[in-house]
Amino acid sequence: MSLENRSTEIRAQVGSSVDAVARAFTRQGLIPQLRAALHGRVIAPDDADYDKERTVFSGEFDRRPAVIVRAADATDVSRVVSLARETGVELAIRSGGHSAAGHSTSNGGIVLNLSDMQALDIDVQRRIAWAETGLTARGYTTASAAYGLATGFGDTGSVGIGGITLGGGVGYLVRKQGLTIDSLLAADIVTADGQLLRVDAETQPDLFWAIRGGGGNFGVATRFQFRLHEVDTVVGGMLMLPATPDVIASFIAEAESAPEELSTIANVMSAPPMPFVPAEYHGRLVVMALLVYAGEVKAGLDAVAPFRSLATPIVDMVRPIRYPEMYPPDDESYHPTAVARTMFVDDITHDVAETIVEYLRASDATMRVAQLRVLGGAMARVAPDATAFAHRASRIMVNIAAFYNGSEDRAVRDAWVSEFATALRQNDSGAYVNFLGEEDEARVRTAYPGPTWDRLVAIKRRYDPTNLFRLNQNIPPTS
Ligand SMILES: Cc1cc2nc3c(=O)[nH]c(=O)nc-3n(C[C@H](O)[C@H](O)[C@H](O)COP(=O)(O)OP(=O)(O)OC[C@H]3O[C@@H](n4cnc5c(N)ncnc54)[C@H](O)[C@@H]3O)c2cc1C
Repeated sequence: MSLENRSTEIRAQVGSSVDAVARAFTRQGLIPQLRAALHGRVIAPDDADYDKERTVFSGEFDRRPAVIVRAADATDVSRVVSLARETGVELAIRSGGHSAAGHSTSNGGIVLNLSDMQALDIDVQRRIAWAETGLTARGYTTASAAYGLATGFGDTGSVGIGGITLGGGVGYLVRKQGLTIDSLLAADIVTADGQLLRVDAETQPDLFWAIRGGGGNFGVATRFQFRLHEVDTVVGGMLMLPATPDVIASFIAEAESAPEELSTIANVMSAPPMPFVPAEYHGRLVVMALLVYAGEVKAGLDAVAPFRSLATPIVDMVRPIRYPEMYPPDDESYHPTAVARTMFVDDITHDVAETIVEYLRASDATMRVAQLRVLGGAMARVAPDATAFAHRASRIMVNIAAFYNGSEDRAVRDAWVSEFATALRQNDSGAYVNFLGEEDEARVRTAYPGPTWDRLVAIKRRYDPTNLFRLNQNIPPTS
């Protein structure tokens, strides 16, 4: 499908108004041509399900793409990449649609949605899986659990394996198995010139290095090859404790000294009004912790015992479970509006825990949270320059977030989040790319410290010299 003759008119509309590109597509007869040329679905603004198809997880981004393509295969992906290159129209790549920066949608651009590409080919003998990147963490995990095997993703089942993997992947198995990218063996990727490349440690090793943390900057990943690990029954679930400074500081100390089989995510937050939370705690500050011990059940129960004895638990749902139970179904109508900051810290001392409690108490946002993730273990044993995710020595990830309602409230919550982050700042100035929001280049650079940034820029220049893949935490080729 060549666009040479028609791209001039489309190009002229880029950036003029939200609907101008869509109108130019229509005038050029491009929508029916795309429908004829592609194996997947093409959704235009006048289609009945356009509004549903343009919706992403975050309620912040109400954008109107000129066209949405639900790719069926790598050939479709390559054609859409070429269409964007030839027309200059903004290209948004979507796997699970969870970008906190709105990068998987666009006003007046093309959305390339991969979520119909969900093939999963598991080789039980060799313990490897080829997974199309439209799969979610839940979809992949449920399928691999049938063989008692897993690859670690994050804490939420509906997150796409596309986005989480390319940024690193910090989840329930991080201390036992490392990041998601530490289990990535190879990938198929469509680069800016429309070519489909196989990358691994031997073939295009520079590109393989860059996509392990460098996000969507280098092309569209259509398939990943992952190592699978034996993960069958785990000791896991939610433990809710009262959020005093003592409990918070001791929780983190326990998590740091726990065996590597145990990974924890401690959400210090106002207790949600959920049926399993006793009514008298609704709205009160609690530690809502998610724990997974991936190993023997008896050892797992021993490992979680110290957490249970930090205070009388408000809710204790930690028990032997099949691993996919950590990904209960999500509410598809849930589209929160939130502001957030991500950072790393070295210690959660009693004083730091006090600061956390003070800030959370001072806010009246309907939902406000300081999420603490103790890292280390297998993740920390990988050399910082082995992948584009370089924060191997970072000890604790902190994510602060507050829900808001309307633009005035947003400004208030944003100021709170920012001040809270400043109050917690210690020596580690890095940031995890997958939790960055709409931030500036300086913040993106903190995701790629030291020589990582320069190496990524050089690789970007080689594979995407015109910055076709720019709707992401961008690494400009000319930087
Ligand atoms: C509720 C929630 C919970 C989360 N929990 C965790 C967690 O526990 N651990 C963690 O590490 N992260 C977590 N994240 C962050 C998450 O990893 C990132 O937001 C990630 O980018 C989402 O991936 P996605 O495919 O769902 O998103 P999308 O919005 O579809 O994609 C985000 C961006 O990634 C790039 N991208 C996605 N797929 C591809 C592809 N196939 N090829 C090329 N580029 C692609 C594109 O630049 C795209 O704009 C969470 C986010 C949310 C909203």
